[in-house]
Amino acid sequence: MTQSFSQLSLSPLLERAVAEMGYENMTPIQAQAIPVVLQGRDVMGAAQTGTGKTAAFTLPLLQRMMKHDNTSTSPARHPVRALVLLPTRELADQVAEQVKLYAKYTNLRSTVVFGGMDMKPQTAELKKGVEVLVATPGRLLDHIEAKNCVLNQVEYVVLDEADRMLDIGFLPDLQRILSYLPKQRTTLLFSATFSPEIKRLANSYLQDPVTIEVARSNATASTVEQHFYRIDDDDKRSVLKKILQERGIKQAFVFVNSKLGCARLARSLEREGLNTTALHGDKSQDERLKALEAFKSGAVDLLVCTDVAARGLDIKDVPAVFNFDIPFNAEDYVHRIGRTGRAGASGLAVSFVSGRDARLMGDLEKLLGKKLELEALELEADKRPAGHFNDGQRAWQQPEEAREQREIRESRGSRPEREARAPSGRPPVRPVRAPADPLFDKPYEPTLSADATPSWETAQKPTSRLSPNIKPRKKVPALFKSAPVAESG
Ligand code: AMP
Repeated sequence: MTQSFSQLSLSPLLERAVAEMGYENMTPIQAQAIPVVLQGRDVMGAAQTGTGKTAAFTLPLLQRMMKHDNTSTSPARHPVRALVLLPTRELADQVAEQVKLYAKYTNLRSTVVFGGMDMKPQTAELKKGVEVLVATPGRLLDHIEAKNCVLNQVEYVVLDEADRMLDIGFLPDLQRILSYLPKQRTTLLFSATFSPEIKRLANSYLQDPVTIEVARSNATASTVEQHFYRIDDDDKRSVLKKILQERGIKQAFVFVNSKLGCARLARSLEREGLNTTALHGDKSQDERLKALEAFKSGAVDLLVCTDVAARGLDIKDVPAVFNFDIPFNAEDYVHRIGRTGRAGASGLAVSFVSGRDARLMGDLEKLLGKKLELEALELEADKRPAGHFNDGQRAWQQPEEAREQREIRESRGSRPEREARAPSGRPPVRPVRAPADPLFDKPYEPTLSADATPSWETAQKPTSRLSPNIKPRKKVPALFKSAPVAESG
């Protein structure tokens, strides 16, 4: 049953902001979580990005803080009352933006602090007083230690993408931050999965939480056409181009497992004339924001990225997702392909499986609870990049690239030998379909204009223009103006 926001009896100031964003009905996580948080209960929510979980925790927090809404200019009248912790700068920035939108008609103040930016403007904001503080753990600790913020009046804490925070190693930071907070508070924990570690965290810091699960962690959308192609590493780029061209795909995510691999792949695709940008953790904050903006605006067609950098980003649904590498962590597969094929739009998820991926494919089959059929894909000889050899280092492959591939193989503990190609003439394998998932309910909103031609359709010759990563930025969000990169967080 759909439930509308009007049933919640939110403050008219919040209702107005919601209406302005064009939302009438709540998403499943919102319908379940908002009433519970309004009652002041702790919540343990299993929800992925794209489900509307930001509003699910932001709206009830703001509603409950309306009793503190005041127009005083005194910082003392605006202590931090809600703390939202996220694993990455991009996520923190994205959530803070949404908090601002929902709170725009109230006098409740909010700000965001994360690493990679100068601390001074953040300090100035904190000193003015804010009710909602969105932060990454490392930078928040810096501010706590510098006594830029006091957290003894915090009433609400949100640990968003908690599983990822633990993956990144933020547990000690989280424990320290939580030790600064009053014991009497509402704590909300959102995570894509409820692993034993997450359950331990919840047991330590949540009181009698209500568990809300809107989708199993292994759910993939029924509207996503999934293919697993057995191909050699050397053929991946050619196959990627071939599929983009043949399917007339306008924009796509290409996921790789390592930062170095990500940068290299983006560079080589760019050299081949594909309009590409890269998103990985070694990029500066400014470069990461630029890459995102370029993709969102349709200025680039391919976003080559790693999981950590791309996790949780609110990028509108894209027509296709390529797993250039099978993810080390099977759950990342679900996150990756969750970016395509939302209701109303059919999406394509293509995974390139090489001989050394047997163990990872086994993990994936276990998570998805089904056998995944590998399809053979024959590449015509003339489609192979010039200088193709069967073994050893390829002519177009830099020595470091070969070394990196070896290192990745070693870290996986699998033998480096190559699996033989499947014989040609094999009967076509039906795409694997996953069970329906009502969460993926947003149609694709193309950012390209209807007549725009993706770069792979015109990519006969490499383009001479500069990479979008080094073009001067046209638009600088006010938040980042004149903020030199200081450190990472
Ligand atoms: P989130 O999971 O919070 O990152 O939200 C994913 C996207 O859904 C964002 O673009 C939100 O603005 C959007 N959204 C949030 N709530 C709703 C809603 N009730 N109806 C439609 N879209 C929503």
